Amino acid sequence: MERISRLFRTRFDKQPVLYRAPGRVNIIGEHTDYNDGYVMPMNTALFTRVAAAPRNDRRVRAHSVLFDENFEFSLDKLEPGGAPAWAEYAKGVAFALQAESYGLAGADLMIDGDIPLGGGLSSSASLEAVIGVALLGSSGLEADPMKLALMCQRAEHEFAGVPCGIMDQAVITTCPQGHAMKLDCRSLELEFIPLPDDLCLLVIDSGVKHQLSDGGYRQRREECDFAIALLAAEEEGVSSYRDVSLEMIGRHATALGKLPLRRARHVVSETQRVRDAVQAMAANDLETLGQLINGSHASLRDDFMVSCEELDFIQQTASETPGVYGSRMVGGGFGGCAIALIDPACLEDARAHIVRAYTEYSGAEPWSHVVESAPPAGLA
Ligand code: ADP
Ligand code: MG
Repeated sequence: MERISRLFRTRFDKQPVLYRAPGRVNIIGEHTDYNDGYVMPMNTALFTRVAAAPRNDRRVRAHSVLFDENFEFSLDKLEPGGAPAWAEYAKGVAFALQAESYGLAGADLMIDGDIPLGGGLSSSASLEAVIGVALLGSSGLEADPMKLALMCQRAEHEFAGVPCGIMDQAVITTCPQGHAMKLDCRSLELEFIPLPDDLCLLVIDSGVKHQLSDGGYRQRREECDFAIALLAAEEEGVSSYRDVSLEMIGRHATALGKLPLRRARHVVSETQRVRDAVQAMAANDLETLGQLINGSHASLRDDFMVSCEELDFIQQTASETPGVYGSRMVGGGFGGCAIALIDPACLEDARAHIVRAYTEYSGAEPWSHVVESAPPAGLA
């Protein structure tokens, strides 16, 4: 934190206020967000940080420490394009705040962070959230956290061009420390679940880069849409995956066809696994939570078919490691990270074992991170 203050004072010659927003990890609930299901993420103590001071000329002067780059813009002229990628997020958040009638004054911003970019911990939503609280704070304003999440999502859609769901922004702006968040992606209703004391999650990066914008992701979405349209047409009272049972999917197996049937089965079973995971957390039942996490991986691998050899290797290795309750790939798939739920007494040995095995398998030591619950976006 001192470093960003010092950098700010050197560049802008005034005293800043410090803000930060965490990264996030999704414990369970994958590919359910755009299918009216549930997700259950939590925040982790890696942060995007902003040092900020007000300006009264409706200008924003921003500096990115990571990219060693400046960008300046006027709050009176905000449209997508023309800025470095990191600055598009800042412009987008400023745009979305003003579109909701928050009267911004202007700000000087120094931006830094320790969340790996594109590493599956949602550095982009964290950046949006911290810019949001910094721009508001510099103008003497505050926003309801869920409303802030929606404005950050709008920035990501319209200025970064990523058609993301609301999960990342919602958990980063709202979820209190010591809790996971169950989000109903149909109603946007939130529930905060206290974390079991000995919940310990390890994130392991496969190092395989995914391209969410490529055909695989779009194809899954189309298959999901096809299956729900067919089920809604055939079944009384079905308008969303929330109204669908596994038994119902079985009844329409022939009409659905092999792949849409599997995609639908993943969505419905994963939604049920999130419900069960909430119960398991409330009961401090980490064994059951681990089995649900393993079940999520099997379903993503076999039914949704978005895993890859590297993620399967990490999952398989983890599930054979003493002290590991369960493990799965996280995120959209085709690469990215895996998580493992581990007995804290076994953490160091289990981590060393998994990292060693994957280093031998892939030829490079993977980045790994022990999740630590963190507060939502706000003053640092
Ligand atoms: P992720 O999975 O981490 O969200 P994205 O590709 O969605 O990956 O977002 C990464 C982008 O967000 C970066 O390329 C950069 O433009 C921006 N970003 C995130 N964190 C920072 C930061 N601390 N400083 C500058 N830009 C950042
Ligand atoms: Mg992102």
